[in-house]
Amino acid sequence: MTQKVPAVILGATGAVGQRFVQLLDGHPWFETVAVSASEASVGRPYADACHWILPGAPPDRIAEMIVGRLDPASIACDRPAIAFSALPADIARDVEPAFAEAGFAVCSNASAYREAPDVPLVIPEVNGDHLGLLKTQRSTRGWDGLLVTNPNCSTIGIVLAVKALDDAFGLRRMSVTTLQAISGAGYPGVASLDILGNVVPWIHSEEEKIQSEARLLLGRWEGERRIEAEVTVSAQVTRVPVVDGHTFCLSLGFDRVADPAAATNVLRAFRGSEEVRGLPSAPEVPVRVVDGVDRPQPRLDVREDRGMEVVVGRIRPCPLLDLRLVGLVHNTLRGAAGAAILNAEFLVAEGWIA
Ligand code: NAP
Repeated sequence: MTQKVPAVILGATGAVGQRFVQLLDGHPWFETVAVSASEASVGRPYADACHWILPGAPPDRIAEMIVGRLDPASIACDRPAIAFSALPADIARDVEPAFAEAGFAVCSNASAYREAPDVPLVIPEVNGDHLGLLKTQRSTRGWDGLLVTNPNCSTIGIVLAVKALDDAFGLRRMSVTTLQAISGAGYPGVASLDILGNVVPWIHSEEEKIQSEARLLLGRWEGERRIEAEVTVSAQVTRVPVVDGHTFCLSLGFDRVADPAAATNVLRAFRGSEEVRGLPSAPEVPVRVVDGVDRPQPRLDVREDRGMEVVVGRIRPCPLLDLRLVGLVHNTLRGAAGAAILNAEFLVAEGWIA
């Protein structure tokens, strides 16, 4: 790529927006040209508007940038640009189509359009072929740009952990219990008095998202259609006093016999498709299997390969279904900003962004 693709960050001051700022700094293909957020931040230098929660400081060039409105017409770009969205879903509902209509390739973290029939919900290593929906999207909506979404932060880890097992053994039933970090609630997120020394057994709409998004992501692409996977998913979610990293405990039921050794081999061999492997944000392996009896742990394992690897351990028989395992995903990296950037890189590789 001779010239970097301009990138705009929508919701740049939040927990996910800050990860976009961090990950796009020095990115080989993309360059941040504008940051935007709510009216409370508009007109202020980014460093003043943003309560930076990551180690270090925002890059100087971005720190001095004036936060703009969520208005595509106000962004001067001399070539088609990417809009990375870290907006709340209710705001994304109006803003993201406006950017796609104005010619931006919108890569979104928000849930607003994840389940829309003409919007790809994509993990490149799992279902990159679902980008085929973009043809329908362009013809029905008449956009010059496009809109692609990445899954909910827990779902992406869960689906990466089971994709190769599904291909090998035929996944039919999945029981999920999550232990989700507080950064998953954005900034300032959950009140300290609610979460310190505590576990909260509810996160708004999270169980429903895991159940429905997993079926879409594991679904197959047939001709011009996405067909949902026939897997029954039961999710129970909790918020725990961990800063970064959603842990998930899975019990899995398969069509064919899946013993722990065979499942471990399958997961260790999983690489995702060849087109994804060379992309700048692609991890060395999508799923890293760890051996320790007490792993994975958020504090020890959440940063594997820049936070882009899902870490899996404790693969063992399950007395109720067939197999049990424990997984871990970095919710703002692989689960959010890193996922959207990998989607954008994949869109470049597939010729959807020039
Ligand atoms: P957050 O920390 O609350 O940040 C929200 C961002 O949106 C801020 O930049 C904020 O700007 C902006 N915003 C809020 N209200 C707005 C309005 N009325 N108009 C325009 N901009 C507005 O939330 P987050 O955790 O980063 O999450 C962002 C999105 O990513 C959400 O859709 C969330 O569900 C999704 N997501 C989050 C995670 C995670 O782990 N946190 C993972 C996956 C997906 P101001 O600073 O100016 O208020």
